[in-house]
Amino acid sequence: MELAVSEHSLISRLPSVRGKLRPGADLAKSNWFQVGGLAEVLFKPENTQDIAQFLKHKSSDIAVTVLGVGSNILIRDGGISGVVIKLGRGFTDCHAEGDRVTVGAACLNSNVVEFAKNHGIGGLEFLSGIPGGIGGALAMNAGAYGFETKDILVEAEVVDPHGTIHVMTPDKLNYSYRKCGLPYGWVFTRATFQGHAEKSDIIASNAAKIAEQRQNTQPVRSRTGGSTFKNPEGFKAWKLIEAAGCRGMKIGGAQISEMHCNFMINNGNATAYDIETLGEKVREQVLHHSGILLEWEIKILGNLPEAQSQEIIAA
Ligand SMILES: Cc1cc2nc3c(=O)[nH]c(=O)nc-3n(C[C@H](O)[C@H](O)[C@H](O)COP(=O)(O)OP(=O)(O)OC[C@H]3O[C@@H](n4cnc5c(N)ncnc54)[C@H](O)[C@@H]3O)c2cc1C
Repeated sequence: MELAVSEHSLISRLPSVRGKLRPGADLAKSNWFQVGGLAEVLFKPENTQDIAQFLKHKSSDIAVTVLGVGSNILIRDGGISGVVIKLGRGFTDCHAEGDRVTVGAACLNSNVVEFAKNHGIGGLEFLSGIPGGIGGALAMNAGAYGFETKDILVEAEVVDPHGTIHVMTPDKLNYSYRKCGLPYGWVFTRATFQGHAEKSDIIASNAAKIAEQRQNTQPVRSRTGGSTFKNPEGFKAWKLIEAAGCRGMKIGGAQISEMHCNFMINNGNATAYDIETLGEKVREQVLHHSGILLEWEIKILGNLPEAQSQEIIAA
């Protein structure tokens, strides 16, 4: 679980910030699988300017990783080198104007839907069942029930790796299925979404139906990363996984969910290595069975500890 590098040496090389810099932060507490090692340095910025100044003055050889709520990531047991940026309190403002809402990137999707409901703005309900934050929804083009984040996005504020702040419309973000076309390392800080006038009780009822449907079909109370693999064009990933005989398959403390076989779960004592190895085993079996190579939807971040790298070299 320990990073081999000295955390303090990196802190001393970083520009000063208004928010907080914390060496050796435990990332297992900040992701849904509840696995993974330490962040070499965790940066909790105070506001957008703080991120911009930090990125502008940081040496270009220091890697930066952005985390949201951690519902679509697998952080490896060796932790993440460089600086991990996690947006918090300075990025949770919500404003409503007409049929639009403008929200900070650290807002939870469910809170944004609730806020919109309280202002009589409908059309955002599909987000309510996606257990991430707005930054993650923008980065992943999160979607459900035929809607994607790009469909309601008016514009997003995003900081580039050199510290320049941009306001971008969806056509500039090159969105596709579960993907934003921006290069790695851009940080979303705010978004404006277009809704429509709707009665609050209708919005509440739509959100309640979504919650009920999810509870019946997905292991939403488990330690999971959501859909593990993207649906290949013309196929459902879960059907391919089931047909390959992988439902319920286990490695160490990791298991393919019995309830929804495109979900992996941590049964309590899984390492990130167990989870990643299980995912790779599923890909191998599906390829063998159907000839289709599944693409990870979950983002795998960070380093394998040395012992695990050696196992992989030996395998
Ligand atoms: C039970 C369950 C159900 C799910 N159902 C769905 C579903 O129906 N549809 C769906 O699309 N997804 C679903 N997911 C996956 C996940 O909730 C979404 O992908 C969500 O949008 C991820 O948001 P997050 O804040 O957790 O991001 P994280 O998981 O923390 O990060 C995901 C990616 O976004 C990047 N990122 C996060 N914040 C920012 C930011 N501010 N700026 C730049 N990049 C950023 C990260 O670097 C990473 O690459 C589900 C997950 C679970 C656990």
